[in-house]
Amino acid sequence: MLRKILTQTSSRRLLSSSVPPLFSKPSISPFSSASSSPEPPSSESITVEQPGTTISVDRSALYNLPDHYHESTPDSELVKHLKSVIKFRGGPISVAEYMEEVLTNPKAGFYMNRDVFGAQGDFITSPEVSQMFGEMIGVWTVCLWEQMGRPERVNLVELGPGRGTLMADLLRGTSKFRNFTESLHIHLVECSPALQKLQHQNLKCTDESSSEKKAISSLAGTPVHWHATLEEVPSGVPTIIIAHEFYDALPVHQFQKTSRGWCEKMVDVGEDSKFRFVLSPQPTPAALYLMKRCTWATPEEREKLEHVEISPKSMDLTQEMAKRIGSDGGGALIIDYGMNAIISDSLQAIRKHKFVNILDDPGSADLSAYVDFPSIKHSAEEASENVSVHGPMTQSQFLGSLGINFRVDALLQNCNDEQAESLRAGYWQLVGDGEAPFWEGPDEQTPIGMGTRYLATAIVNKNQDIPAPFQ
Ligand code: SAH
Repeated sequence: MLRKILTQTSSRRLLSSSVPPLFSKPSISPFSSASSSPEPPSSESITVEQPGTTISVDRSALYNLPDHYHESTPDSELVKHLKSVIKFRGGPISVAEYMEEVLTNPKAGFYMNRDVFGAQGDFITSPEVSQMFGEMIGVWTVCLWEQMGRPERVNLVELGPGRGTLMADLLRGTSKFRNFTESLHIHLVECSPALQKLQHQNLKCTDESSSEKKAISSLAGTPVHWHATLEEVPSGVPTIIIAHEFYDALPVHQFQKTSRGWCEKMVDVGEDSKFRFVLSPQPTPAALYLMKRCTWATPEEREKLEHVEISPKSMDLTQEMAKRIGSDGGGALIIDYGMNAIISDSLQAIRKHKFVNILDDPGSADLSAYVDFPSIKHSAEEASENVSVHGPMTQSQFLGSLGINFRVDALLQNCNDEQAESLRAGYWQLVGDGEAPFWEGPDEQTPIGMGTRYLATAIVNKNQDIPAPFQ
């Protein structure tokens, strides 16, 4: 079946013209965490004067984490907002709250107002590296639709579609499977109005109605709808969900082991009016509640932990996905960088393809964290008895087993030298990582591949077979 789908997969988008040696997101953050032992508690107690009010903030019990100082810049709207939240809250906010504001604050969040991808942006993702990525996701989607019994109506949901490139390549690549494309209702879950516009353009949409977020994509004649959350997507219809580099943008809490128990890393404003990390004096409610995630770890794993990063939003999202798939049929594909283990401390900030300080000029850099794949598996299995979880496997294994090497060979038959070079570089960036599983190794100019740092996992309805290529 896979072979048949591959040979029929069509492509109208021209081969990506070049694959610049850009930064792909995952790597080790240069700002190692608060692993240095916290300083003794600062004894200050500061008073903040506001017109008509006096707010006293007792910071005497907070621990300074001194390794995150940064250069001062004039306060942006988002910085002012964050500072006022901290001031009126009467103390620091969690790293999760900081991350959520920085990325998705409706006025000034990183994603909200501009195109952040590609050479002119801040980072590059697999769909932007090569059209083959979206095409291979298309192959996966058609295989799943076959396993679902070729339903006449399917909700194809993409979480965080960025520029819409993956979906556009998926629709072009699968356009010969008319029964499949005719079954589709596309639902894009996107918080950013600027990116919604780009998705609309790249899917070549024409508006069906001015009042609703609904259009028709001329790429396959499919209806396209936009939503702010997965909950808004209508249920009761077989559903296929794709989440590529979505989970890494979901807020994480960070905890640190101390003699007082698991305390939470928080973001505060120091006396110098700069953001700084502090450690809660005792376990926060979030620490007490969320550390239950560690019960999924082995005793040996737990013993070694000094820092833990936990994303309750990722767990809630997975539960919502699993409930839908369990009751409506279908499946979800999650691809992201992360680990098949508890994550200790991975939050990082990237601006213009370079790592920067997490607290520096918030809103101007992407924040992302490694995805905790075991927590996805456990959350899905807890939420629904009717789903099974497969993987994770590396992106390299995933794309290789789906037949990306056949695809690249087919594309190489019909291109000029420049396009061939770009194709090979793109191929290598998607599957490579210091070793070439399906292709001859790259030259020194080729950027580090995404092949092993990105993992793929699938959640499917138990009534269906094991999805390709997880068998
Ligand atoms: N999948 C795309 C983009 C990844 S970046 C690609 O691989 O190229 C993350 C995407 O998720 C962006 O489109 C961003 O605007 C969106 N996003 C981030 N947090 C979100 C949230 N809480 N709700 C909805 N969309 C979100």
